[in-house]
Amino acid sequence: MSNATLKELSAQLATGVCSSVELSREFINKIKRLNKNLGCFITVDTERTLAQAQAADVQRAAGRAGPLTGIPLAHKDIFCAEGWLTTCGSRMLSNFVAPYDAHVVERCNAAGMVTLGKTNMDEFAMGSSNETSYYGPVRNPWNRDVVPGGSSGGSAAAVAARLAPAATGTDTGGSIRQPAALTGICGLKPTYGLVSRYGMIAFASSLDQAGPMARSAEDLGLLLNVMAGFDPRDSTSLERPAEDYNRGLEKPLKELRIGLPKEFFATGLTPDVQRAVEASITEYKKLGATVVDISLPNMELSVPVYYVLAPAEASSNLSRFDGVRYGHRAAEYTDLMDMYKRSRAEGFGAEVKRRILIGTYVLSHGYYDAYYIHAQKLRRLIARDFVEAFKQCDVIMGPTSPTTAFKLGEKSADPVQMYLSDIYTIAVNLAGLPGMSIPCGFDGGGLPVGLQIIGNYFDEARMLNVAHQYQLATDWHQRAPQGIGGREKA
Ligand code: GLN
Repeated sequence: MSNATLKELSAQLATGVCSSVELSREFINKIKRLNKNLGCFITVDTERTLAQAQAADVQRAAGRAGPLTGIPLAHKDIFCAEGWLTTCGSRMLSNFVAPYDAHVVERCNAAGMVTLGKTNMDEFAMGSSNETSYYGPVRNPWNRDVVPGGSSGGSAAAVAARLAPAATGTDTGGSIRQPAALTGICGLKPTYGLVSRYGMIAFASSLDQAGPMARSAEDLGLLLNVMAGFDPRDSTSLERPAEDYNRGLEKPLKELRIGLPKEFFATGLTPDVQRAVEASITEYKKLGATVVDISLPNMELSVPVYYVLAPAEASSNLSRFDGVRYGHRAAEYTDLMDMYKRSRAEGFGAEVKRRILIGTYVLSHGYYDAYYIHAQKLRRLIARDFVEAFKQCDVIMGPTSPTTAFKLGEKSADPVQMYLSDIYTIAVNLAGLPGMSIPCGFDGGGLPVGLQIIGNYFDEARMLNVAHQYQLATDWHQRAPQGIGGREKA
């Protein structure tokens, strides 16, 4: 059962092949067996999970089941979940039990889904390798010596290792798509504002967006149907009519125009990734799509612009962690100021401190115009490039990440090298566009490669159609890492 997609699990639950309690127990047993080697989960709580599963079974017996009732999933530890430890991968929140549910969690619960646990992540979602977590790194199920990507590395690795059939993630600069690519799963970052940020611990509020991670495009659509929707508790949540994001899955791709930005295939892209991405474009041509060469001339500015704006917003958002209302407080201090200083010095790790310092600097008097305002202007130019590009094509494709998964420790000493992992994903966040990653092959060492599909605003249904048609024609998304498949005893 742990190899099944959400769609298959939904059918199994509906026909009584298994109950939610049996299904959840199977995943819990698998987590117990494999999590120590992978580090995907920060918190599991068997009793809580089984109680939720039991409630889902009762709901089904009463004839009140929806398509996802009783299906377990994992939540990234950035989402507040009532009664669950919610750490955001930080020592700062290592004692924080959330008193309420994030919008995303609330929606999943309302759909009858069952929380398997809270997944490991880079501290405050800052990172591309899951190595900045206070709870230690996550290992990639395809090869335990390499990283799973980040910051949603625990969610990605859990889905890849079949410890959960799906998971939630968040993407500020690539944190759903890049770990999805590096672990061979599917991940979708929706249009900014489609999924409420309420109860999602803030990193860079103008960029942060929650989205689903799963094993097929169709499963992403099922989850997006649950997660999306207006929420007055988030001032940037968009009021739009509800959609079925899977409504167009079966549409043939005959009229599809795929834009290939030349900047996505320039220096820095490793040959194995390029080969796999090009092979997937060839497959799309076979499916009837046409290819247009496009350009995103300001692409190269996206990483520098992001590393002004994201730290600026982070420095402001993280100022609330002062050891007073919640979170870590130093055991010893002399006065109030000393308490703030010590609590923050002890509670935050090195990468978070680096971002706070950069952010405070670019926002400070005298530098604000030169860095922050300038970066805001460039952000507009980057967004405009996409508006121009979408006049010529329906979707944009390219690699998700310039490399496949790299060795643990390989980039930790050089932050700029680490930041460049998101060179193809960051512009999408700056523009507020939807982007996804789906598996499209492997490198010479057997590590997965991700294909990135970028859509126009609110075009998630089309992106899912485009991904689904590819998944009908290929089986990359069905490949599983060795030694983690197989049936578990319930
Ligand atoms: N890797 C990027 C960063 O470190 C993006 C992280 C994210 O999307 N949360 O900021």
